Amino acid sequence: MTKPKKSLSQNFLIDKNISKKIVNQTNAKGNHILEIGPGYGFLTDTILEHNPKKVYLIEKDYNLKKILNKKYKNNNKVNIIGDDIFLTNLSQFKNLIVISNLPYNISSKIILYLFSYKKNINEMIFMIQKEMSLKFDYKLPKMNKYKFLTRVVSSYTRCFDVSSKVFFPKPKVKSAIVKFKFNKGIVDLNKANDFSTKIFKNVRKKIYNNLNTNLDNNLFDKRVNQLNIDELISIYDLF
Ligand code: SAH
Repeated sequence: MTKPKKSLSQNFLIDKNISKKIVNQTNAKGNHILEIGPGYGFLTDTILEHNPKKVYLIEKDYNLKKILNKKYKNNNKVNIIGDDIFLTNLSQFKNLIVISNLPYNISSKIILYLFSYKKNINEMIFMIQKEMSLKFDYKLPKMNKYKFLTRVVSSYTRCFDVSSKVFFPKPKVKSAIVKFKFNKGIVDLNKANDFSTKIFKNVRKKIYNNLNTNLDNNLFDKRVNQLNIDELISIYDLF
């Protein structure tokens, strides 16, 4: 094993039970699975036990990629399709299931990026920092852009929490497994992004000040983080 790289947020899973519990959050059998940052392939091996149709891997660390290439050389289900998730085009895929123990330093960025591939993905199961898992949970109070966008594109579940003991090296934070199940309908993400930029521009201001609109609504007199998700969506639906 080479020295884990902090810059790539490398915390490798070492607990087979957790690995099984993660993959059990979806139905991998017969499906196309995409794994981001497979590392040494610990989670990949569990995914393969579920008999998926194909597993696509994207690993940024050149040394790990070489190790994976060797490890799965004779496995025609495994395809290494790229090295950086942000540079890999996923538009060729349909009904993908994404599974990942995400690099924590860029987890929210990756999640928002994958929202733009909603058409190609059915659902996503991620290990992320527990604190981050709360930021996406639109059922909790205090709206933010993550909650809003998550609700617009998906239904979101926090599946279970994970202790830092199941990793090497141990991260300083607690972890959680979460699931995004994308809605079937078409979503105008540009519109949703523009709206969220506006309405969250200054959370101390009242909504009518941020939206700068002639429309009238009794919710406009509140501040955006005082709304619940249904109220926020009802405002979004006016535009
Ligand atoms: N899935 C493995 C490793 C998780 S650690 C396990 O559970 O053991 C995060 C992994 O993401 C590392 O292997 C790291 O090299 C990789 N990674 C970091 N940034 C990445 C990026 N932009 N694209 C793809 N992989 C990345």
